[in-house]
Amino acid sequence: MNATLQAGIPIRIDSGQLPVYRLLCGNPGQMTGPGTNSYLLGRQRMALVDPGPALPEHREAILSALAGRELAWIFVTHTHGDHSPGAAELQRLTGAELIGLPAPAAAHQDDSFVPDRSYQHEERIRCDDFVMQLIHTPGHVSNHFCFLLEEERLLFTGDHVLQGTTPVILPPDGDMADYLDSLEKLRLLDLRALAPGHGTVIDTPEQSISALIRHRLRRESKVLRCMGELGASPIEALCRAVYDDVPEQLLGWAQKTLLAHLIKLEKESRVRQERGLWIPVA
Ligand SMILES: [Zn+2]
Repeated sequence: MNATLQAGIPIRIDSGQLPVYRLLCGNPGQMTGPGTNSYLLGRQRMALVDPGPALPEHREAILSALAGRELAWIFVTHTHGDHSPGAAELQRLTGAELIGLPAPAAAHQDDSFVPDRSYQHEERIRCDDFVMQLIHTPGHVSNHFCFLLEEERLLFTGDHVLQGTTPVILPPDGDMADYLDSLEKLRLLDLRALAPGHGTVIDTPEQSISALIRHRLRRESKVLRCMGELGASPIEALCRAVYDDVPEQLLGWAQKTLLAHLIKLEKESRVRQERGLWIPVA
């Protein structure tokens, strides 16, 4: 199911009935891995999941993959700069419906994304050849949707579940407790595969989602263990101890996710904060 990742070339990802193509954007990097995945699906009137950044060459690749067919729906998982800024221009060119949630007031958000109306959790969008169900999955950010292609039981996961890495949780808009709840929500769906915003298709949804939950809970235990050893400490010192398995250049991002863990633990009265120090509650 996973062909080589190459920017600009549509690759059919799915062996199901409905054609689904991945179009990799040429924006590889520390936070985007091989780049952002845009997905094109349908037979005649087409849908796009995550238009990606507003890069002319990526827009051209999407338009040429349409091969003269109409683009009728643009689904946006969330409004980070590597997922949604391409939407406005594509809508102007095609008249497609823009489906997603507006950007929250937070850092790294794309305010240019304006959905056509308000959309709800579990709402089902009837496209010509298929039905797409909207699953609200706050955590990575508050306005995150996953999209369930019902006929294929294929879930487009944006940055909620990634292949080859774990998502950064960006507080205060991102929320660790919400993130874990959103993962539990996905466990209730009968899924065949996951199509992530970065990386290749995941053929083992149940195992991958469970592994992600276990990973977060293990990290949370490590936070508590390190706090027990260090006592009251600033977040920087705690971060070095908790993320001793993470390369130096990623510690800044790790610290944001650590803060998300600490906020969750603070709400549960298991840690507290005093004069810039984080303190375990005995
Ligand atoms: Zn993101």
